[in-house]
Amino acid sequence: MPRFQFTIHATDGKARRGTIAMQRGEIRTPAFMPVGTAATVKAVKPQDVRASGADILLGNTYHLMLRPTAERVARLGGLHTFMGWDRPILTDSGGYQVMSLSELTKRSEEGVAFASHLDGSRHMMSPERSMEIQRLLGSDIVMAFDELVPTTSTRDVQAKAMERSMRWAKRSRAGFDSGEDHAARAALFGIQQGALDEGLRKASADALKDIGFDGYAVGGLAVGEGQEAMFGVLDYAPGQLDATKPRYLMGVGKPDDIVGAVERGIDMFDCVLPTRSGRTGQAFTRAGPINIRNAKFAEDQGPLDPACPCPVCGTWSRAYLHHLVRAGEILGAMLMTEHNLWFYQTLMADLRAAIEEQRLTAFANDFRAKYQTKQG
Ligand SMILES: [Zn+2]
Repeated sequence: MPRFQFTIHATDGKARRGTIAMQRGEIRTPAFMPVGTAATVKAVKPQDVRASGADILLGNTYHLMLRPTAERVARLGGLHTFMGWDRPILTDSGGYQVMSLSELTKRSEEGVAFASHLDGSRHMMSPERSMEIQRLLGSDIVMAFDELVPTTSTRDVQAKAMERSMRWAKRSRAGFDSGEDHAARAALFGIQQGALDEGLRKASADALKDIGFDGYAVGGLAVGEGQEAMFGVLDYAPGQLDATKPRYLMGVGKPDDIVGAVERGIDMFDCVLPTRSGRTGQAFTRAGPINIRNAKFAEDQGPLDPACPCPVCGTWSRAYLHHLVRAGEILGAMLMTEHNLWFYQTLMADLRAAIEEQRLTAFANDFRAKYQTKQG
């Protein structure tokens, strides 16, 4: 297997059907990456995550650096061995969590000083440190370290953050390349910033292209701006990035967000929604999300989603899941999460087939007609 090779097999409008070949396996795109925050996709064993159709997982640098620490994971053979997942893993840079979860953060050109949300201990995160942590974890796809500001910030604040992010992207590239053994088998993605401003997005895309990355993320979206504003950016942002490389929309999203983003040329996604929702009683179905705690499901003997091929829908009823979730049984969270992962991966497989067969618009329109975004 090559270090990193992206092949586009078919296109339909702006959408692309591709494959990323890496040493630990192939990633079929458009791809959805389940989130394994603390070296676990919560409530699901790795083999069951794989059975749902996932080719790659996401791990969180911020959480792992604090507990159990990247150094300990490295001593124990790396993240893949530690958690029992032998396929590709993408790690985020830690930047988003450092700037959103931690306390007493202090930003400078060097990086971000912060206090752990666990015990208040002081840490410094910088492009170089982020690259070192992701190398210690043994990540397959490493994300550049960038600076985030709210989309509601002034244009001047956004421009300065984007420009700093591009300087940090260059330092991330140098830091990644200095870990020669790791750099020989892993990939590095840059992150486009620029909030909702087309000119800033273009400047960011050009700066990243000059540095050169294996793939490009559209960053700074899915942070509360709403679907319409997000799609507004996605109407132009993917087209500003190198068309021969994968495009990753970080932190997205709801099923209808994913369908619309695939139509706009996005190849990779990650989101906590299927796993987090599974633990709170929300199930995704082709008719839209449902809350299994709702009394109307108490004696409903049908499956969560009649069209779902997952082992949960093949075995247990809405009534049983309603009971488990209401009773706070651990199995309820496990089964709900497993179904939700299958829902997301089946949606991705359906999108890939629709692109291959040049019927994405019809598929997407049919999906939207049936999918009620208001929870039932
Ligand atoms: Zn199911």
